[in-house]
Parts: sequence; structure tokens; C-alpha cells
Amino acid sequence: MTVATIIPRAEHCISRDNIDDNALKVLYRLHKAGFRALLVGGGVRDLLMNHVPKDFDIATDAHPEQVKKLFSNCRLIGRRFRLAHIFFGREIVEVATFRAGYEGQTSDSLQDDAGRILRDNVYGDIEDDVWRRDFTINALYYDIADFSVVDYTGAMEDLKKQQLKLIGDPETRYREDPVRMLRAIRFAAKLGFSIHQASEKYIYELGHLLRDIPPARLYEEVLKLFHSGYALTCLGLLQKYQLFQYLFPQAGEHLEDSQFEEFIRYALESTDARVNEGKPITPAFLFAAMLWGTVTKLRDQYVEEDMPLSLAMQHAMSIAIKAQVSHTSIPRRFSMVMRDIWHLQYRFNHRNGRRAKSLLTHPKFRAAYDFMCIRNKAGELQDDSCEWWTRLQVMSSDQQEKILNPSRNSQTKKKTLKKKI
Ligand code: ATP
Ligand code: MG
Repeated sequence: MTVATIIPRAEHCISRDNIDDNALKVLYRLHKAGFRALLVGGGVRDLLMNHVPKDFDIATDAHPEQVKKLFSNCRLIGRRFRLAHIFFGREIVEVATFRAGYEGQTSDSLQDDAGRILRDNVYGDIEDDVWRRDFTINALYYDIADFSVVDYTGAMEDLKKQQLKLIGDPETRYREDPVRMLRAIRFAAKLGFSIHQASEKYIYELGHLLRDIPPARLYEEVLKLFHSGYALTCLGLLQKYQLFQYLFPQAGEHLEDSQFEEFIRYALESTDARVNEGKPITPAFLFAAMLWGTVTKLRDQYVEEDMPLSLAMQHAMSIAIKAQVSHTSIPRRFSMVMRDIWHLQYRFNHRNGRRAKSLLTHPKFRAAYDFMCIRNKAGELQDDSCEWWTRLQVMSSDQQEKILNPSRNSQTKKKTLKKKI
């Protein structure tokens, strides 16, 4: 048995004022029913760092069915390990029963040859639950019974040292779940922490295990890495730790081309800016950017082989998407938008007539225009396209008409002149 360090209310900065009301309601009701009820994970970590948590996860010794009985607005999800989702309008508070199945406790039969966890559905108590968590700083609990913080792993010290340290033996923990390597990158980028030496070393050695992660899970991780407002830092770390190639193998090859790298960096910079300004973002833009180097290379290759341009483009888009989805899935609704973004790039060359006008009202104009401006900025397009299309959008429709149909305007002028004469 491990002894926890209990940090009493007076000695830490977590105030209930900063905890979501609905999460508090759930904690209190579980506690009043006689169960243990604690906040855990990112919520506690972020509060201790004076950050605003993304969500509040709750851990309890109540079994999922017992949680369901306490809350009418509760749904149990998951088959392998059941979680309770408690609905408050659009907000969901997630409640997980303490889980066993940590290193040393899992027998060989629960793991595959690579050491990955296959079964992880045994309920336990808090002392089991803590060891199956990934990093020490993610394994802190806030106990609603006395408002103390419970630290089993030396997490408070690591918070102070600003370091990410895997709980247990790093090699075993990465083998159990290789996605933890991506999580290390994500938290290092988000919190500005360093990765503890031992936890760092094995990333270089075990990165290849990411090849075995199902594409659907990698897709989710990619969004977390690149859509949380620190995509550029994540890219740098993924390159440093040689993990980028497992997420985007095709882009990985083209990143050696400095212009393409510049393009990706500008694309991510713009994504980060949008996230931080609270503007909407779409996975379609991210994936379109990551695969653009491949699409253009393939397109040029097919054109050289005498394929007509539009066919070459269609073909290149399909091949690039097909190759990517064996690594990270891309939902169809997004791959369709990616094709639109890519395809519309050609339409920016037509600066007059109805075609140009209709481009402005195309449902994917905005994303395609942003994409084009980034190509421009990275030097792939060496003309005034971005500037020209930016100016066009802020013009009145009369002014647009004049620019887009200069000949028609001069004809009308001639006609009026004739009439006057
Ligand atoms: P975020 O701010 O991104 O939500 P988080 O730490 O809350 O960060 P989650 O993915 O929400 O991350 O997971 C909640 C908690 O569950 C983590 O803090 C960690 O304790 C545990 N956890 C999640 N994924 C893993 C994993 N792959 N291996 C071990 N523990 C994990
Ligand atoms: Mg979380």
C-alpha cells in the first residue's frame, strides 16, 4: 500500500468557485450517498496551475449502475469499461469508477505481445486507480469530502519542477499504450513543461509502436494535438521526437522541402490564431494542408505522364487521401471538403466574369481563400492573388462588377455615350 500525501484546503489554491457548478453537484450527490467522490486528471492539474480546465472528470468508488441510480439524467456508455455520462443540457460530466489494471497488477494474459493492455475493466479503489494514469501530474485528486488534494505519485513536486513524468517504468507504460507518447507531446506543448529524461528517452525507441494504433484513435489524437491552440509547438515537438511521420507519413517526407514546411507552419499558425480568437476551425483544413505537398507532387507527376490536369488532380487527391486513411481516419464529410479546398485553388486564377463572382459565393470559398493566402505567404504562389481576392471581398457589388466585367462596363459606357451624342 502506498501512502498518499494529503494537501489540506489551506495549503493549495483550488477553490470551489473555479469548479464547474454541475461537476460540483455530481460530486456532492455522490458524497452524500456515501461514496467517495473526487475530481481527477486535467481538471485538478489545470486548477493547480491557475489555468481554466477544459473539462472536469470525476472518479468514484460507486459502480456505474449505482451512479445511474443517483442521477436521472445519466447514461452509461462503453462496453469494456463502463463510464457514466451525466447530462446537464449540452454539458456532460463524466464519472468513472476507480479502475484497477495497472502495471504489475495486469497479468501477462491481459496484454498482447507488444505489452499493450487488452483488458482493463476491473474496478478497484483509489489506490488502484492512481497507478493506471499516465503522468504524475494527471494523477492528482481533489476530494470533495474535505477539499484536500490527494497526491500518491509526487505530482506536486513535478508540477513545481514543471516536468512530465510517466508513472511507473516508462518503457512498460508506452508499450501498454503507445498513445501516451503523443500525450506527452501534447501536455509538454500545452503546459510548457519538459519531459522527464527517462520518459523522453523511450519515445525515440518506441515511436514505431504508433503504427499499430487504430486510425480512428490516431485521428482523435491528431485533432487534440493540432486543434487546441498550440499546434505549432506540437509540430516542433513531434519533429524533435520523430513522431510526426507516424501521423502524417506523406507530409513527413515532404517536410524536408523547406517551402512545404513553411506552408505547414503558416497553416498551423493560422489555426492557432483562430482557436485563440474563438473562431471555428475544421479538420478538413488541417488535413488539406498536411496532404497538399503530396497532392501537388502527384499531380505534377501525372501531368508529366500526359494526363489532363483536372484528371491528374482528381487522381492525386484520391491517392493522397487513401494513403492517409490507413494511418489516421478522415471522416467522409471532411474529405469531401478537403477536395473542395484543393479544387477551388485553380479558380483563384480566373479574375473576371461570372466564374470569379460565383467563386465568392461558393460555400467553401472562405476555407479555400485562407488556404490560397497561406500558399501565397509561403511563396508557393508568387503573385498578388491573396491581396487581390482580399480587396475584392470588401468591395461593394458595383465595384466588384466593374472589376470582374471590365469589357461589359466599357460597352455600357460606350452605349450611354452614343445615346448622349
Ligand atoms: P485535457 O486537458 O486535454 O482534458 P486530461 O489530462 O484531462 O487533459 P484526458 O484525455 O481528459 O486528459 O484524460 C483524463 C485523465 O485520464 C488523464 O488526466 C489521465 O489521468 C487519464 N488518462 C487519459 N488517457 C490516458 C492514457 N492513455 N493512459 C493513462 N491514463 C490516461
Ligand atoms: Mg480532461
